[in-house]
Amino acid sequence: MSRTLELAKQLISQASVTPEDAGCQSILNDYLKPSEFKAEVMQFEEVTNLWLRRGDASPLVAFAGHTDVVPTGPDQEWDSPPFTPTIRDGKLYGRGAADMKSSIAAMAVACKNFIASNPEHKGSISFLLTSDEEGPATNGTVKVIEALQARNENIDMCIIGEPSSNHILGDTLKIGRRGSISASLNVKGVQGHVAYPHLAKNPVHEFAPALLELTTVEWDEGNEHFPATTFQISNINAGTGASNIIPGNKHVDFNLRFSTEITADEIKTKVLDILDKHQLDYEIEWHLSGNPFYCEPGELTSACEQAIQEILNINPELSTSGGTSDGRFIAPTGAQVVELGPVNESIHKVNEHIEVDALDQLTTIYYRVLEKLLQ
Ligand SMILES: [Zn+2]
Repeated sequence: MSRTLELAKQLISQASVTPEDAGCQSILNDYLKPSEFKAEVMQFEEVTNLWLRRGDASPLVAFAGHTDVVPTGPDQEWDSPPFTPTIRDGKLYGRGAADMKSSIAAMAVACKNFIASNPEHKGSISFLLTSDEEGPATNGTVKVIEALQARNENIDMCIIGEPSSNHILGDTLKIGRRGSISASLNVKGVQGHVAYPHLAKNPVHEFAPALLELTTVEWDEGNEHFPATTFQISNINAGTGASNIIPGNKHVDFNLRFSTEITADEIKTKVLDILDKHQLDYEIEWHLSGNPFYCEPGELTSACEQAIQEILNINPELSTSGGTSDGRFIAPTGAQVVELGPVNESIHKVNEHIEVDALDQLTTIYYRVLEKLLQ
């Protein structure tokens, strides 16, 4: 059996639903220890993180990933138990098979093999592993990066094993992500009888012109790397259920996915200007899930592109699409960041899987990237 397949199966067998690591990081630590990695467990509240580093020289090439997985949903909807790695028709099934235990296994095997052949390699190699990516992401990568920054330990290049591929392995490299900000808005009115509107104030009517403006205003035009910023209402509620009452409140939730052409603060100001312009009485709470980031293609991107071309004979597309990722915490330190991992079509679904062939292909790609950067 391929060493990557063996290790991936071992990791999938651990039921590491966020924030549980369930021993995955120990498995990886044990596997990499003979390659002379220095291990540091970074525990923040209930979250276990592992920082492994081999060597002190720069550049520091880091492999980043998460050992936690999303919940499985009802087990009976799976064709095989989610934490029992199972191969059918050339695919490896199990929770985490694509997001992202297979890529972590491939990274570990690639590093071990590379170090065995190049014990005197240039620079340093590290692993940043967290079990808090799929959840609130408050005690994971963000805290590890803070700790590293505090002692002036800087990642130069970082490969994240997130499932970046869309249709076939290697077709897409992610070099940035849009930002995401949500708000919970309460528009206050005065409850009353529908027959006596002069004694009430209807927040649905009050909010209507602001809603029109929020949904039609242009936030920015995007740029060559990002589509234009978008605004979406996710929830809207008002009313008591009775047909003769003017509601006293209206609740609205919305989210913006934003480009690097606008900041979270500019978005807040623009929203508040619109609400104030329409003289609304309101309360608003904001939640910034992540700022956008973009990494100008450089040495790391080229190494990944070349490795994919040499091994799979395709040219990857450089993209910033999709949700947020832990890259948002790493890129602001100045590190080059690339997401390179398996096909994302089955992630977070029942019967999550990866092509068995992709395991060794991914290992070879990571190995080749190391050769290009550190040989
Ligand atoms: Zn993931």
